Amino acid sequence: MKKDRWFCNKPLDEQQDLAQNNKIVPSDSESVILKNSNDSPIWIPESDNESETSLSSPMICCTPPDSPISSENICLNIEINDNISKTEASTSSKSKKVFCYYCETEVLNFPRHITRNHKSEIDVQKILSLPKLSKERKNLLFALRKKGNYLKSNDNLSKPVKTGNENTNYLPCIHCLGYYSSKNLWRHRKKCDANSNKGASTKNSKSEAQNFLIRNLKVDPQLKIDVFPRMRADKVSLVAKKDALICAFAARYLKIHRENHFILVASRKMRELARLLLEIKKIKPTINSLYEVLKPEYYDTLVSATKVVFRYDPESKTYQAPTFALNMGTTLKQCCDIALVYTLKKSQKLSTVSLANQEADLKTLIQLINSNWKFDVSSQASSDLNIQKWNKVTLVPFANDLKLLKDCLINKANMALCKLKENTSDEKSYIILMETIYSRIILLNRRRPGELQRLLVNTYKSLILNENSQAYEEFGEVISE
Ligand SMILES: [Zn+2]
Ligand SMILES: [Zn+2]
Repeated sequence: MKKDRWFCNKPLDEQQDLAQNNKIVPSDSESVILKNSNDSPIWIPESDNESETSLSSPMICCTPPDSPISSENICLNIEINDNISKTEASTSSKSKKVFCYYCETEVLNFPRHITRNHKSEIDVQKILSLPKLSKERKNLLFALRKKGNYLKSNDNLSKPVKTGNENTNYLPCIHCLGYYSSKNLWRHRKKCDANSNKGASTKNSKSEAQNFLIRNLKVDPQLKIDVFPRMRADKVSLVAKKDALICAFAARYLKIHRENHFILVASRKMRELARLLLEIKKIKPTINSLYEVLKPEYYDTLVSATKVVFRYDPESKTYQAPTFALNMGTTLKQCCDIALVYTLKKSQKLSTVSLANQEADLKTLIQLINSNWKFDVSSQASSDLNIQKWNKVTLVPFANDLKLLKDCLINKANMALCKLKENTSDEKSYIILMETIYSRIILLNRRRPGELQRLLVNTYKSLILNENSQAYEEFGEVISE
């Protein structure tokens, strides 16, 4: 579980706590956690309990919860040792246990547990003040359960409010912290009791929920604001967002590539690296982060993972995505550079043998990639790319067809213009006019669609208004290449 979150300012231990516990709860729960002197809840014999059968099935606890042979303790140990899947957890008897939000232990009878041990908490007092079996009481208890289960959740285990099939992916509601299937999350948010603004759009529920999970990690603010919300909220993105080196790589990429459309490229590159990391984890399960894999001994693993990610077919010896395979070597070298900068910075403060070894490892890996990557990956990928180019048929349009297209465009544009003159708020005609103008400019110069796509109205206007003929001539030269 030891992850090297090296580019955060906080000490490692503190960060791990943040990352693992997610213990910031955005509600009115700033109550003080009161514990017994020996840090364990007081055990009261079964006889004098007040059972709340309505919410949790009554289970008899035969041994005190804090005794070493307690069934709860055994369950907890199994849970830590086993790498249980989501579905296993939900179907077993463990699913009936609730993780107490206050004392962070698993309990069988949650209502009884909080009544006995956490009476002083504001939320518990609220619950106790309500009549038993009332709807409000149930709702408050349910909210407290969700908060507790959220604390317990991690990558491999989340306790959803409703379990779906084994492929269901669960994400937390950012208001009540309950885990819901990612498909139905938007529907839940519309009616979530903790959501104060129910009318707000729930369009980006999935990515908001995923970003909520990693909000405590120290990541470049531009990445958090611009790139993260645009990434698809799946497992690959979560791995990318959690890996410090992948984030540092994207942050550096965005510093050089400032235009808006590079945000999507940065997101794509992050996901490529995350896919590579996931593939490496399959080959070497001990690996946790990209930083750990940047060592010469893992060079072959990197090559084989790259082949899997970019779909190398050993029979036909071709890549399905040769362009990306070609670029992966450069991307990895840049990652090594960033890691090297970090190691050098760290070694200035404190010089140890392990840091010196890391530095040497990174340098060796860069050398290995420089000298060998082209034989192992690039040459095959670039020859695939060339073959794809040969086989690409370029159809040159006939002059007649071009004239037909031009006439059609002008006709459509004129009709749209007439309609717009009659009714200035005609949205459809406006779009037609805009599209026909774009098409005509592209026809004039089909090599530069990207520039046209990102040309601002202001830039265009200033060029027209500019009396300086030289600037205009340069523009003319560029587009008539
Ligand atoms: Zn408790
Ligand atoms: Zn909710």
